[in-house]
Amino acid sequence: MESQSLTGDVLRVGATIVVPDRGELPRRCIKCNAPASGDPIRYTFVDSDVGGAPRGVISAFVHFRSRRTGRVTLHMCDRHRRLRTLIRWGCPVEFLVALAIGIYANVAYPKPPELLVDITVFLTIASLLPLGIYQMHYLKGRVRDGQVWVDGAGWRFWNLFRRNSPSHDPWTRDP
Ligand SMILES: [Zn+2]
Repeated sequence: MESQSLTGDVLRVGATIVVPDRGELPRRCIKCNAPASGDPIRYTFVDSDVGGAPRGVISAFVHFRSRRTGRVTLHMCDRHRRLRTLIRWGCPVEFLVALAIGIYANVAYPKPPELLVDITVFLTIASLLPLGIYQMHYLKGRVRDGQVWVDGAGWRFWNLFRRNSPSHDPWTRDP
């Protein structure tokens, strides 16, 4: 709600944009820097000492103990907005259809016809593939000291911000 839009508060370290928690990015598409369209998108990033999704029992424990969230209001152009919706809804729907055909094929036939099996396999893979791409290329945020470190913005967008000295940055990767 009470987010401020101050380009001056936003820094970048390499390709990472550093935004104060609850801050708002300029009204430009975060992916391609085209003029934004539609409502602002409130994006909540979840971070922990594990870094990314928890993988085992112990790291899951560390994850939930050290879980931090940060919220950033950002914007997107029409095209990236559609892409986001498509990936978010398209894949799960495709996956459910694949599942339904798979179940049908097994229930309706003593030995499922090969075509149905092929369709099921194809749809399952097709629905998981973009989800993987989405996870790899989508926005990733780390939360620390009231700041959100956002990875995954397009270079045209992050080029807007002045570069911060990375000396105190615990996550610095070499440019
Ligand atoms: Zn865009």
